[in-house]
Amino acid sequence: MEYTAHFRCVAGCKGSYSIEEIIYKCPHCGELLEVHHDLDALRQRSPSSWISLFDERIRTNQWPYGSGVWGKKEWIAPELDDACVVSLHEGGTNLFWAERYGKRMGLSDLWIKMCGNSHTGSFKDLGMTVLVSVVRQMIKNSRPVEAIVCASTGDTSAALAAYCAAGGIRAVVLLPRGKISTAQLVQPLANGALVCALDTDFDGCMAIVQRLSREPGVYLANSMNSLRLEGQKTVGIEIVQQFDWQVPDWVIIPGGNLGNVSALGSGFDMMYALGLIQKLPRICVAQAASANPLYRAYKAGWDKYEPMVAMPTEASAIRIGNPVSIRRAVRTLNKFNGVVEQATEKELAEAVATADRTGTFACPHTGVALAALVKLVKRGEVQKNDRVVVISTASGLKFVDFKIRYHENRIEGFESALANKPIELPNSYEAVKSSVFHAIDSKPPLT
Ligand SMILES: *Cc1c(COP(=O)(O)O)cnc(C)c1O
Ligand SMILES: [Zn+2]
Repeated sequence: MEYTAHFRCVAGCKGSYSIEEIIYKCPHCGELLEVHHDLDALRQRSPSSWISLFDERIRTNQWPYGSGVWGKKEWIAPELDDACVVSLHEGGTNLFWAERYGKRMGLSDLWIKMCGNSHTGSFKDLGMTVLVSVVRQMIKNSRPVEAIVCASTGDTSAALAAYCAAGGIRAVVLLPRGKISTAQLVQPLANGALVCALDTDFDGCMAIVQRLSREPGVYLANSMNSLRLEGQKTVGIEIVQQFDWQVPDWVIIPGGNLGNVSALGSGFDMMYALGLIQKLPRICVAQAASANPLYRAYKAGWDKYEPMVAMPTEASAIRIGNPVSIRRAVRTLNKFNGVVEQATEKELAEAVATADRTGTFACPHTGVALAALVKLVKRGEVQKNDRVVVISTASGLKFVDFKIRYHENRIEGFESALANKPIELPNSYEAVKSSVFHAIDSKPPLT
């Protein structure tokens, strides 16, 4: 069976374009493009046969099909030559039952999908493997790509730099100077990317990179380029697969540029269209209160959407005031009976600290999602027996500076409720023993 995929306009204009073409927007109306799969061809294979194929491949060493993305290759980039795939065995991240944390907020079936347990420490790997692999095929077919460029709040550039380094392609990244974590800055440097730290914010970097991408030989890797969403859509598929092909009631996802929520939705859409699942989950997008254009539009009944200047937030990867994928995200929310919530700096930090007390090491974006969930539970919108999945988007290890400031009670604007500082002691058995027993006598364990 021949499976095919093309770019098409999200607004439905006529025309389809090869995924190897350098094109990001519809030439008729200027809207974004999306990858359209030939579902009739995919339907020639039965749902149970897709399920057994995907289950056979997951996490095997049968390259590249052991990757969480390439194990679903027919649904992602069916015409890509295996020899062009640039994979770092992404996906297949753990989905765990957050039993103690769930109980605290009155939920019995809360799960966290650890997308940050990935090669570069965020879910961005899922999309970048697809984009860089397609570029490798373009180069092989003599299309002149000299460099792949992106603007980034930190994680996109880390993923781009790593996949380009693995594939032998030049990477150029534009970052807002001083607005990303040290770990995120060092990642593209280490992988040999050309790193431009600009005196502006993410939206400013985005404006420049869009112009740059019109120059010959320059290929754009931002999520305006919908190839990345094809890889990212595997997160929803993988969650369902990890639940033995059962669909959860809710998925909570932090959103900035809003590509990821659109991708999440399209993974579920595709499983539904091809008969692998019979229902859809509800989706909640969680935004930081200081960068909440989607939340505001939602509150206004979708009547007016206005880009804003995003203010500082610890959740730096979602500090975006003018999300590229706004239209796609609204469409997804409408289809998935979705809601939008927001979290303040205090709410996100305390959510991280509370979850960490039950064994996570959550990043601030995951904190935004957890804080949003607390609100949905309080309102009764999420019910106590609902199966809920929170998407954890990055590794907490990229954000240790935030965590240290929290535990040293140095985050401005509030007192850290769960600060935990080291006790400095002399080299003395008695001193250690006395501290241990003081703790045993004064505090109940694990609160
Ligand atoms: C990119 C990113 C997001 C936001 O994803 P969008 O597609 O921009 O909405 C959230 N969390 C982390 C850690 C990210 O890197
Ligand atoms: Zn169009």
